[in-house]
Amino acid sequence: MTEKGSEKRVALVTGSTSGIGMAIATRLAKDGFTVAFHSRSSVLVRQSLAAAHPGSSYVQADLSDQSQSRNLIAVVVSRHGRLDILVNNAGISATIPHTSLKEASPELWRSLYEVNVIAPWTLIAEAEVALRQSSRPECPSCILNISSHAGMRLKGASIPYAATKAALNHMTKLLALSLAPQIRVNAIAPGFVDTPMSQAWTAAQKLWTERSPMGRGAQPEEIAQLASLLVASHYLTGEIIIADGGLNLT
Ligand code: NAD
Repeated sequence: MTEKGSEKRVALVTGSTSGIGMAIATRLAKDGFTVAFHSRSSVLVRQSLAAAHPGSSYVQADLSDQSQSRNLIAVVVSRHGRLDILVNNAGISATIPHTSLKEASPELWRSLYEVNVIAPWTLIAEAEVALRQSSRPECPSCILNISSHAGMRLKGASIPYAATKAALNHMTKLLALSLAPQIRVNAIAPGFVDTPMSQAWTAAQKLWTERSPMGRGAQPEEIAQLASLLVASHYLTGEIIIADGGLNLT
């Protein structure tokens, strides 16, 4: 079902058929947005999402392919007639000890950069016109990047993964300057979140349980609650909000 030219605001959440992205997309649908769900390959999920959220849509695209990234924006704008919110959530990780330099091959660096840095950039560049068109002074359009605490601290599943998230954080601030005032750009830097991606991160889970002031990692819905707040905060731009249960204080 589509709402071409609708007054209802439209949000695209990448990687939204699992984990943090699914929680954010579901939350934004509850907040009243028309949501465009996206994943690399989830045909079955597509039917259940469309049924659960009338007016929503689903687009499949492999974001490691720049032409598919560009097409994703074109399809969403064509289906819904506008785009107000872009959440760059899709991402990949690699777990490599920081001392094992040879394990982090150039090919691995490139694949992580393709999905975690170049894809968000391509989507933002492609969405800029539509985001500017739907922006109003009292309600600017909004880009929200899901980075990681690994991009802020000297930690993370691997050095290449942490470097991609640091790049995404820096891009967030530079774009907040370039795209203001019509488009706000912010990021959430989560710590450990219980998702399919983090199932193998047993050491990180232990660290959050034993050392973080909140005594546990986050649930995806708690990151979605913060995303909802940032989307609704019409004066906020250029911020990287660390959501790590206070671990950075220790
Ligand atoms: P997840 O594996 O459930 O979600 C990742 C999503 O990205 C999936 O929907 C997947 O389809 C999508 N994706 C991956 N490669 C893609 C590609 N080439 N094309 C299109 N889509 C692709 O994991 P998650 O934990 O929900 O991760 C969401 C975001 O949160 C990621 O950017 C991740 O780096 C970040 N993050 C996660 C944690 C954590 O502890 N789980 C912590 C910090 C940051």
